[in-house]
Amino acid sequence: MTTDVINSSEIKNLAPIFGHTSFDNHEQIVFCNDKDTGLKAIIGIHNTVLGPALGGTRMWNYNTEAEALKDVLRLSRGMSFKSAITDLNLGGGKAVIIGDAKTQKTPALMKRFGEFVHSLSGKYITAEDIGMETSDMDLVREVTPYVTGISEDKGGAGNPSPITAYGVFMGMKAAAKYKFGNDKLENKKIYVQGIGHVGESLVEHLTNEGAKVIIADINEERLQAVSKKYNAEIYRGSNLYAEEMDIYAPCALGATVNNETVGMLKAKIIAGAANNQLEKEHIQGPLLQQRGIVYAPDFLINAGGIINVYAELEGYGKPEIIRKTENIYNTTLEILTNAEANGVTTNEAALNIAKNKIETRKKEHSK
Ligand code: NAD
Repeated sequence: MTTDVINSSEIKNLAPIFGHTSFDNHEQIVFCNDKDTGLKAIIGIHNTVLGPALGGTRMWNYNTEAEALKDVLRLSRGMSFKSAITDLNLGGGKAVIIGDAKTQKTPALMKRFGEFVHSLSGKYITAEDIGMETSDMDLVREVTPYVTGISEDKGGAGNPSPITAYGVFMGMKAAAKYKFGNDKLENKKIYVQGIGHVGESLVEHLTNEGAKVIIADINEERLQAVSKKYNAEIYRGSNLYAEEMDIYAPCALGATVNNETVGMLKAKIIAGAANNQLEKEHIQGPLLQQRGIVYAPDFLINAGGIINVYAELEGYGKPEIIRKTENIYNTTLEILTNAEANGVTTNEAALNIAKNKIETRKKEHSK
């Protein structure tokens, strides 16, 4: 007689959502489908203890639905910690739209997506991410107030990317101060991977400071344009990770620091805009630490964008946006120092602070 024994991979298959490795106690996950516009989207609401879950919408041509789900779960979790560490009264959420932003994004699809956001009555507030423009947020705004990152002439704070880039620049300078004893980036060899909305603006700050900037992207047109504008060298090699450099700035997609790349990296600092740069933070975090590579936690240094869109909700202006974004320098330096003192990875040090803030607020709520 055979016994029905379920092995662990089968158990995982039976629990594709609540048992997902990136689930991490999400409060709510919303699957949105609209036959007429072709919309297929997932909204992840990770945590709303500190406030409504705010996070951008990414439109990407995912190979599978599972890939899209994993992305939204990882991204929305990151938003909870980003807002917490930046002291914003916001929870963590994010949305992904499955499809090619260049060919499948239509005004009707964006508005239909906006209606799904509206149906959550403000528990989730959207903004832009990869594949989205300020004009898309303006379309969403036509059907719901629960959107940020709308254009300045419509009363919004505009494109958050330049502010995100400025925050990354601040975090990078703090990491340089920690690692080299000086925050000047002049003559530092810096690889910027991904020169989109944020990457290009970061290149501008870096070239203004006299850094030796090398740019990499899969979009040849952008490479040509950005190289010409800032006189930046284009990377033509096949393995950027193994190149000699002072700083690696991931500004494209996440998970570029993974088991394959972590051992090759020659950078002394990793500081960039991409979300979830470490594929598995509990594995690559300690490996980077052992190798003496300073990792400026992504969710800490790329918070400029959320500071910018939060201004729309709180009604503060540009000077306060800049002040809060510049403070990323101090927080980064504090966290890098604190991690060393406590013998934890820089990612853990930042996460611990963010988690404590959420827990403290939760206790206050339950009093
Ligand atoms: P974007 O879409 O404007 O730019 C991304 C760039 O990366 C594009 O030029 C694309 O061609 C390039 N790219 C994609 N895959 C690549 C690869 N494999 N190698 C090299 N280049 C590649 O996006 P963005 O708004 O500049 O955001 C960049 C990153 O920063 C994303 O991970 C985003 O989630 C994160 N981020 C953005 C903001 C913001 O304010 N825009 C805020 C926080 C975090």
